[in-house]
Amino acid sequence: MKKSSQNPDTKLTRDAIIGLGEASVRKNYYSELQGKIIDLERINARNRAILNTIPDILMLSDTKGNLTPFTTNRNTHNPFFIALMAEVKTMATLRESVQRCQRDKKMTQLYFNIAFNGSTHYMEARVNYTEFDEFLIMIRDITETKMLENQLRHMADHDSLTGLLTRDLFVKKLLGYRDHLIEQLGIVVFDIDGLKMINDTLGHYIGDQVIKTVAEQIEIVFSGVGFLSRLSGDEFGVLIEGVSEAELDQLVKKVIDHVDAINERSESVIISISFGYAVAENGYVDVDSFYSIADNHMYQNKMFKATSARSSIVKTLMKTLQAKDFITEGHADRMASIATALGERINLSRHIIDRLHLLAKFHDIGKVGIPDNILNKPGKLDPNEYKVMKTHTHIGMRIALESVDLQDIANLIYHHHERWDGGGYPEGLSHTDIPIECRILSIVDSYDAMTNDRPYRKALTHEEAIEEIKKNAGTQFDPELVAIFCDLISKPISALLFD
Ligand code: GH3
Ligand code: MG
Repeated sequence: MKKSSQNPDTKLTRDAIIGLGEASVRKNYYSELQGKIIDLERINARNRAILNTIPDILMLSDTKGNLTPFTTNRNTHNPFFIALMAEVKTMATLRESVQRCQRDKKMTQLYFNIAFNGSTHYMEARVNYTEFDEFLIMIRDITETKMLENQLRHMADHDSLTGLLTRDLFVKKLLGYRDHLIEQLGIVVFDIDGLKMINDTLGHYIGDQVIKTVAEQIEIVFSGVGFLSRLSGDEFGVLIEGVSEAELDQLVKKVIDHVDAINERSESVIISISFGYAVAENGYVDVDSFYSIADNHMYQNKMFKATSARSSIVKTLMKTLQAKDFITEGHADRMASIATALGERINLSRHIIDRLHLLAKFHDIGKVGIPDNILNKPGKLDPNEYKVMKTHTHIGMRIALESVDLQDIANLIYHHHERWDGGGYPEGLSHTDIPIECRILSIVDSYDAMTNDRPYRKALTHEEAIEEIKKNAGTQFDPELVAIFCDLISKPISALLFD
């Protein structure tokens, strides 16, 4: 900084210090002293800039703990500072820190909260000695950092879908019981049945909803009494102290009852869960085998009801299809009757006719996995939509494989969209490589589709439909079967069914 541009007050001080004009030996050091003073001024200016830049509240304390604002004009107009000074307890704590700093001769740090403008502020204070029998107190609002830290900790400890604690914490909690004498400790393991199939057929969003619903029911029963965790995708664990086996059994049954009640009200998905538990009493818990015992019990429970659970899932899916108006009782029965009549006319064996009957009812079950906007689209499907629609045969096969009742027709469901000329899907089979049940269904299903209204067109008459089927004999349909079908159905279908 040039001398001419300096503030006159500063120069006055400087002249006074140096004793300019006096016949003094100090004069010999004039230029050196002036340099030092300019350095000091620079340091001062920097310090002022620091003080004006940092957002912290600054205070000073004397050795007796009398607190004063550091930069009066900055602090005293600040409503937050005024609120802080009014906090008697906080001020007392700050004074204690000053004493500690004085005693230990090192910086002290403390944390406190204050309420301001209706919210809690988290504060960090540092107290340090300035070496002039004064202490500098620097107070920082760390609310944002603290909130973020809490949020991160919550995210690390909790599963984002269900809000339950993570597996790591569960394991830590369980291992914490090692070498501890306990009176009673219970562990429960729950696992959702058939979640993969729910994902595959109804989609991951519904799968997620099922996981959330189950987690909520477990929480309703165990929250506050037990330590709950989502152990993996569809598996949950509970640790609970002070319960007997009979009490734990009651609690677990409550969860099952809640899930049953939800199923009663549900229009679509039926949720089924398996459970297993173990209780250790009076002694040490073998934490290594404790979880395995409960898990084995859960597995036995799953095996015990495997068939019924899976059949109930298939029933659920049928219910969903009915809710989507895709299968109506009348439609399914009508189709089954015509197909069976055709099968009998060509002397198929009883078990093939039985399969045909089932196929007529369930061939479209895979449509539960097709989005509604594609299923109900009034116009023609675009190539991408058609690609999605075609997956219903594969989805249907997977569902059927899960059900003892439908396993036999899984392959038939897979092939029910093949065409006689090989132009169908999914494998482009042709002629007699296509199972007979599928060839029959294809004709019956098309007749039924043509003679009923669809979102994109009005129903054809009986005669128009027969004409259309004859036109496609040898390309879409097995020509021999078309001839037999037309003969069988020479009168309208309603008359045939009431014969
Ligand atoms: P099981 O009846 O034998 O229990 O069979 P499962 O189909 O329920 O399958 P399992 O318990 O062996 O595996 C759990 C499946 O849950 C695997 C995965 O497809 C699915 N899954 C895992 N995490 C999630 C998730 O966050 N959301 C959804 N929608 N599905 C998940
Ligand atoms: Mg499961």
